[in-house]
Amino acid sequence: MSVSENLQAIEKQMAEAADFSARDVADVNLVAVSKKQPDARIQEALDAGHRQYGENRVQEAQTRWAHRRAQYPDLRLHLIGPLQSNKAKDAVALFDVIETLDREKLARVLADEMEKQGRQLPCFIQVNTGEEDQKAGIAPRDVADFYAYAHGECGLHIQGLMCIPPVDESPGVHFALLRKYAHALGLDDLSMGMSGDFEKAIALGATYIRVGTGVFGERDYDL
Ligand SMILES: *Cc1c(COP(=O)(O)O)cnc(C)c1O
Repeated sequence: MSVSENLQAIEKQMAEAADFSARDVADVNLVAVSKKQPDARIQEALDAGHRQYGENRVQEAQTRWAHRRAQYPDLRLHLIGPLQSNKAKDAVALFDVIETLDREKLARVLADEMEKQGRQLPCFIQVNTGEEDQKAGIAPRDVADFYAYAHGECGLHIQGLMCIPPVDESPGVHFALLRKYAHALGLDDLSMGMSGDFEKAIALGATYIRVGTGVFGERDYDL
């Protein structure tokens, strides 16, 4: 299937999942994850009119997207991978949304950089719902304190919460937990669900889903 056919298929599945849980599909944003995808496929998605993309590395995203900015002014680029503090400047310059706010130092550095560049990017706090040692994200018990710091002290605009459930567990529990934490803080937006589980995520309240292979096909790790 072509990328535009994949996009249509995903959008249909999104609409069905939204219907099924009495939600409006207009409240669910498809972030097409373009990391490690050949340029021709990305161009196909752009030609099909898609404008929201996710990337997990700053440098890779720069080579792929910086030159396209002028041509696609309505592009929305989401950073969905871990951000090192020394890349914050480049990330603020390139991206529109930071989905992986995961520690105090980064919150401070991002706030300073946004101030400097005059760009207030909405951020999602990444929550380590599975409390996995190897995974980034704020531990569930620390989310409220971290929100107070990032929003209250640093002045960041926190749009919502994001999670990546453990690969070996049923994701539904994690999606439900993320929604619970978000509601406790009065946050409306939830970034959760990938190619394999976005329908479940929509049923549990996702407003942003991040779909890579489902849109573009398998990634090419030699890229
Ligand atoms: C790569 C990636 C995705 C997309 O995964 P697919 O299974 O290809 O849909 C979603 N979220 C994050 C954080 C990713 O790194």
